Amino acid sequence: MTDTLNSPAPSIASAPVYTIAQQRKIVTSIPGPRSVELQQRRNAVVSGGVSSVLPVYIEKANGAVLVDVDGNQFIDFGAGIGVTTIGHTEASVVAAATGQLQDVIHTLFTITPYEAYVRVAELLAEHTPGDFAKKTVLVNSGAEAVENGVKIARKYTGRRAVAVLDHAYHGRTNLTMAMNYKAMPYAAGFGPLAGDVYHAPSSYPYHDGLNGADAATRTIAYLEKVIGASDLACLVVEPIQGEGGFMVPADGYLTALQEWCTANGVVMIADEIQSGMARTGHYYASEIFGWVPDLVLTAKGIAGGLPLAAVTGRAEIMDSSQPGGLGGTFGGNPVACAAAVAVFESIERNGLLTEGRRIGRTLTAGLEALKATYDVIGEVRGHGAMIAIELVQPGTRGTTKVPNAAAVTHIANFAAERGVLLLTAGTYGNVLRFLPSLAVTDELIADGLSVIDEAFAAL
Ligand SMILES: *Cc1c(COP(=O)(O)O)cnc(C)c1O
Repeated sequence: MTDTLNSPAPSIASAPVYTIAQQRKIVTSIPGPRSVELQQRRNAVVSGGVSSVLPVYIEKANGAVLVDVDGNQFIDFGAGIGVTTIGHTEASVVAAATGQLQDVIHTLFTITPYEAYVRVAELLAEHTPGDFAKKTVLVNSGAEAVENGVKIARKYTGRRAVAVLDHAYHGRTNLTMAMNYKAMPYAAGFGPLAGDVYHAPSSYPYHDGLNGADAATRTIAYLEKVIGASDLACLVVEPIQGEGGFMVPADGYLTALQEWCTANGVVMIADEIQSGMARTGHYYASEIFGWVPDLVLTAKGIAGGLPLAAVTGRAEIMDSSQPGGLGGTFGGNPVACAAAVAVFESIERNGLLTEGRRIGRTLTAGLEALKATYDVIGEVRGHGAMIAIELVQPGTRGTTKVPNAAAVTHIANFAAERGVLLLTAGTYGNVLRFLPSLAVTDELIADGLSVIDEAFAAL
């Protein structure tokens, strides 16, 4: 008895409780019969311009597992493209959103404001890089955050031109489709595109072999020659490129660009829509490179799956817009804001930055082991829960690095049939990306990688 009284209190930060067993389970062919039926209904009424990676219809999700309408369970290595970063249906997010639904669902912040919007702005000011006064505007989607970042930078600088990097992805709205690298499928036939958008060379060490200083010199030469600093409003950069294939820039590249931007009055904007919100083992991937951007764009993972996005940055830049110039009907919706507050609290309470680093170590070690066996794996790269492998033609990984999109398609299909959902990426479609939720266990990663190992063996 006394023993029990004197023993230390049990740890409060215990493992999360899952409502769905964290394991894969395949009980039908993929897609199963009910999914096939739903796909037929969908084909009759949903625009053919909307595609799906895997036509299995999801009924429930929890942690890092998806359950489809046929009862199949998938290990989710995509997290809705890095959205359910803290886990599907995470209990504190569900509770916060449910509570907010009962109190007030909408007022429009630009008519009558509410606390949750202010709280999200405070949390963003606290957790984005940089120790200066920061302000935020909340919007609905990543592309809308990009649009607003550009608007704000143009207003602040009084300049017209927008620069982005090769292999970038910034969205599907009119301005952002001009900012993407790939015309297909994002811009082809949808023009005319927005003008004054310039694509500068990026840092892609696996292919260009340049160190950070040399890659930055090449980028800056382009900006100075093709645009001219005095006309450049902003340079928008993903610290780790998402759709492009998780390219990690060479050390010193991003800070050299920021120095040049600061010296030339250019607003440098971090598109952290995919890489932010604890995805990489840091709140923002910019921190990995010591980069302190002028503006930071947040979206995907911020509200546990509810639509919310933000532009956050230097107060003097954010305040340059006239009142009424920024905003929108649904921007900073109270339910999405309540969920976002719960996401920030969950990152702190559950030590999710540490979890991200754990996942990065486990995934990297597992994938490096596969790379040692299979010579189509050219490179393993990324940070935290944002890791990718680039696949090349056999015998070319040390030399010409010829893209191998067919292998990526084979691996993704093979894995899906066995209950592992993988996303592809890459300008040449030759990258497999791992964006699991931070709830994914080492056991689940190991199980998923064993399937991927079989997939490579069957190549
Ligand atoms: C997803 C994404 C966007 C666009 O976000 P949406 O919410 O789909 O509009 C922009 N930039 C990056 C880096 C992204 O990953």
